[in-house]
Amino acid sequence: MTEAIVVSRRGAARFAAGHPWVYRSDVHDADRPAGIVRVVDERGRHLGRALWSPRSEIRLRRLTAGDEPVDRAWWARRIERAWRLRESLDIDATACRIVHAEGDGLPSLVIDRYGDFVVAQFLSAGVEAVRADVVGAMADVLGPDGILLRNDASVRRHEGLPLSVEVVHGTVPEEIEVREGRVRHLVRPYEAQKTGAFLDQRENHLLMGRLARGRALDVFTYQGLFALHMARRADTVQAVDSSAAALDAARANADLNACRTIAWVEANAFDHLRALEGAGDRFDTIVLDPPAFAKSRQSVVRALAGYKEINLRALRLLSGGGLLLTCSCSYHVDRGQFLTMLAAAAADSGRRTSLVTLVGQGADHPELLTVPETGYLKGALLRVDE
Ligand code: SAH
Repeated sequence: MTEAIVVSRRGAARFAAGHPWVYRSDVHDADRPAGIVRVVDERGRHLGRALWSPRSEIRLRRLTAGDEPVDRAWWARRIERAWRLRESLDIDATACRIVHAEGDGLPSLVIDRYGDFVVAQFLSAGVEAVRADVVGAMADVLGPDGILLRNDASVRRHEGLPLSVEVVHGTVPEEIEVREGRVRHLVRPYEAQKTGAFLDQRENHLLMGRLARGRALDVFTYQGLFALHMARRADTVQAVDSSAAALDAARANADLNACRTIAWVEANAFDHLRALEGAGDRFDTIVLDPPAFAKSRQSVVRALAGYKEINLRALRLLSGGGLLLTCSCSYHVDRGQFLTMLAAAAADSGRRTSLVTLVGQGADHPELLTVPETGYLKGALLRVDE
């Protein structure tokens, strides 16, 4: 058996604190190809087995504290455990996340289900090296008609991995029809954002489907999911996005649901919100679901200014008693900063604003308390009282 990888005291302490990552500076020099390695501390004590990425800043991602072999059967057991959790969640949809990487104890591996098909992402050199075992395990446990690997996520570059999109099992169509609550929508798994849809927002889509009323506004609509859910209750919906391609997909989704009350607007959200406010427009229900404005720690201050601007305008656009669901998927902006920003926007808006409830990512995207990176989506439902 090849020699174990030795981690420093600080590296071992990270494992002990419930975090699976050990960085380059906490690993003693090792010249080993990517794959699965045994890990020991400086005294030679066994710390488990981990994925090894020789070119990444994150050198180790621990899979198990035990000593059992990590083979196809091991992956199958872990994927099955994750799948059982989803079955227990009683998810009202035909698409969901089955494996949320670190959140399911399977670092750097994402597995999503869209109807009878699986779309997965291998996001480290370590897991890429054992791809055949993982693909085999997915096929064994999930029995899909096809498995597509969306390995075009840019984080793979940090791992020294090429970007690619490929079918590795069965066949996967260009377009898959799925259902979320009472809304049907089309997913294009080869080219859509993420693995095909924003599955993390499912519970919030359903929530707004119950709460929307009157005139509704969905800003950053992408393929129209919040708008389609809100259209079930609201009189009219205006849905805004800067991407013409996303709006084409959104229109096709509206046709699929025979929905005719949504007006699709191609515009920059910042400009459009300013124009609506200038025109003295009013809405009873608003959703703000922007892309991550803070892509790094350095951009947090600018991101918060952007978040504040759109939230301030949205609050001013609400009619008395109106609701705003506002979200941030920036990992680098935490819940505290998000709420402080909202309080500043509420103060500047001059509107008496209450926090109805906090929301987050769906339970099929488990957030581990000891691994903050597993939680990124936060949202607040606000009501303007007068
Ligand atoms: N609400 C969607 C997901 C939104 S993803 C859902 O629940 O499925 C973010 C969207 O914001 C993308 O569609 C992107 O095209 C759009 N976007 C990014 N910057 C924008 C801008 N400045 N103005 C309008 N839309 C923008």
